[in-house]
Amino acid sequence: MPVEPINVPVPLQNSPYEILIGSGILSLSGELSSKVVKPCRCAVISDETVAALHGNEVIKSLQKAGFEPHLITVPAGEATKSMMIASDLCNRMIQLALDRKSAVFGLGGGVVGDLAGFVASIYYRGIPVIQLPTTVVAQVDSSIGGKTGVNSALGKNLIGTFHQPRLVIADTAILATLPDGIFREGLAEAIKHAVIADEDMLKLLPPNRSSDLSSLIARNAAIKARIVGEDEFETRGTRALLNFGHTIGHAIEAVAGYGAISHGECVAIGMIAALDLSVRLAGLPSDQAERVKNVILACGLPTTIPAYLPTEQIFAALLRDKKFEHGAIRFVLTKHLGSAFVSDQVTIGDVTKAVKRLGKK
Ligand code: NAD
Repeated sequence: MPVEPINVPVPLQNSPYEILIGSGILSLSGELSSKVVKPCRCAVISDETVAALHGNEVIKSLQKAGFEPHLITVPAGEATKSMMIASDLCNRMIQLALDRKSAVFGLGGGVVGDLAGFVASIYYRGIPVIQLPTTVVAQVDSSIGGKTGVNSALGKNLIGTFHQPRLVIADTAILATLPDGIFREGLAEAIKHAVIADEDMLKLLPPNRSSDLSSLIARNAAIKARIVGEDEFETRGTRALLNFGHTIGHAIEAVAGYGAISHGECVAIGMIAALDLSVRLAGLPSDQAERVKNVILACGLPTTIPAYLPTEQIFAALLRDKKFEHGAIRFVLTKHLGSAFVSDQVTIGDVTKAVKRLGKK
């Protein structure tokens, strides 16, 4: 039986919405969605894996609430986040006679969420999207905040829009079907949230997979929601705090080749470097850095660079990716756990040394 969901508001001036979190609430997705979108002909975009596991439940619930849902599946995996697939989806929706009164549901992880949000934002110049996130990454991070997009052949997430969802429904029971590696990868974003905004949450990580994860997911969603509420379009610097560990993480990911090491694993390694720089440049006590490292290890995430990755290429990727102005980069550091700030004092030399100190495995 689904429980009463936890409600986390996303406080945006023009388009506020709610994140509903609870075990078993996917079966209520029709009823909950009908409160924010008039029942209509709609597309449920999902990947083949998630659709096979959870598609029926959503379709039935939407039908029960008066929607006319059409399940459209795409292959699972990052390669699906492309202009070609976005274009195919638009064509499918035109064939199904979806119009400006229609809506899109994104049922899946971050790949499906980003793609469904993007398609909703361009279809008939923008129709509502409701996010039904099914991975830890999607429930604590990607379904919240309205960043949508696809990848270009020249880089990840380079084509996209801001399109806030009307509602996010995070059913924590469906995390049970996630393969262990994908579950653990998502914990990297929860560790990041703890470091930048909620030190006490470190005690809850890693969680016991067989327990109800709703309060942990809600605690993370609340952090993301607050930060997005303060800086919807990433123009005020607050949203940049969410990049803690990502600068070096992205460079490792680019050199390894996307997918070779998971995004969460790259972020975990990037966080070790960011903690090291925080100790050296911002006065973070080293025992606090050690504490986070132990949580990263306990979550089964790496803390060193795989030996086969050439360090020189990681430096080159960093230089390509980030603008070093007068030899310095904007880099997120923490002075004490539970807080973070953007420093413009971190130099290329500092970053290079931190990557070298990471060590190899
Ligand atoms: P994903 O969407 O590729 O999902 C990972 C795998 O898990 C897929 O194979 C999927 O089929 C499977 N899966 C999903 N839910 C499942 C379930 N409940 N049971 C069994 N299998 C399941 O990966 P992800 O980590 O969720 O998302 C990564 C994407 O999110 C990246 O493209 C990244 O750029 C994006 N992202 C976006 C934002 C944002 O703000 N928009 C933030 C972070 C990440």
